[in-house]
Amino acid sequence: MELINGKEVAALLKDKIALQVLEMKENGGKVPHLAAILVGENGASETYVANKVKACEQVGFDSSLFRFANDISEKTLLEKIQEINDDDNIDGFIVQLPLPKHIAVDKIINAIKPSKDVDGFHPENTGRMVKNLPCYIAATPFGILKLIEHYNIETKGKHCVVIGRSNIVGSPMSILMARDGNPGNCTVTLCHSRTQNLRQFTLMADIIIVALGKPGFLTHDMVKEGAVVIDVGLTRIEDSSKKTGFALKGDVEYDQVAPKCSFITPVPGGVGPMTIVALLENTLKAARKEVYN
Ligand code: NAP
Repeated sequence: MELINGKEVAALLKDKIALQVLEMKENGGKVPHLAAILVGENGASETYVANKVKACEQVGFDSSLFRFANDISEKTLLEKIQEINDDDNIDGFIVQLPLPKHIAVDKIINAIKPSKDVDGFHPENTGRMVKNLPCYIAATPFGILKLIEHYNIETKGKHCVVIGRSNIVGSPMSILMARDGNPGNCTVTLCHSRTQNLRQFTLMADIIIVALGKPGFLTHDMVKEGAVVIDVGLTRIEDSSKKTGFALKGDVEYDQVAPKCSFITPVPGGVGPMTIVALLENTLKAARKEVYN
């Protein structure tokens, strides 16, 4: 069994990005600039955004954080998005989800200029992804592709089972694994909460990507010998022995499943660190106008 060390791969890729930023600077170019909009005071969102800002500093990007109170109106938020869309100094931006209930998420995402949508959530980028055209791929699936690439994991002709069909992870992941490319060219089964006898599918899988948010869901009796298991799940479980008061648990019963695998990601330290690197990569692409020009 080989452990997929997302922390290590993320550090390597960050170093590469930092070198490219130095080069851009030396050539008199503009440094990539990522902005984030954060609404309200959700603990997990605060941490995610703080980590994104920190990652920008690490690679030499400029970053801006726009914070708003929970009761911001949809109209004011849309105006801010328009302002950032028009700001030539900002190459890409994200609106941290979830948003308060009184704000229509789709309306907000649709207002982001596709060329600055480095989270890859705008329908224009999703559509381009489906058609295998240049696009920003959503950060978590993009990070997973990078891990598969880094470890030279063969995907062509394999059976990949994705569990979870969210717009940000499972659904794009299933499309990417089925696309004609590398990684890709898998035969994909997409499972969700209405799937009957899910185990019959996972037992046939060469690659299982688990993204449902149910700690320990994938157990050893659901996995065949030699499978590749990618655990996207990240659930906070109360743990008084930790400084933070919580531990992070994945969707895989790791201790049981790992011995059966050819490759497996740990939680934490697997997919998580790659998500931020993927966002940085998209921002670099935006600054270089590689996707839209
Ligand atoms: P989500 O929007 O809650 O979607 C969960 C999906 O799982 C849904 O499609 C749901 O099916 C499916 N599901 C729920 N119970 C199921 C069951 N018993 N059997 C089969 N499918 C089931 O979740 P998400 O946003 O994709 O996130 C999933 C997990 O990944 C969470 O733990 C999240 O924290 C984590 N995550 C991690 C990263 C990272 O960077 N590491 C990034 C994003 C998310 P239905 O559609 O039928 O309801």
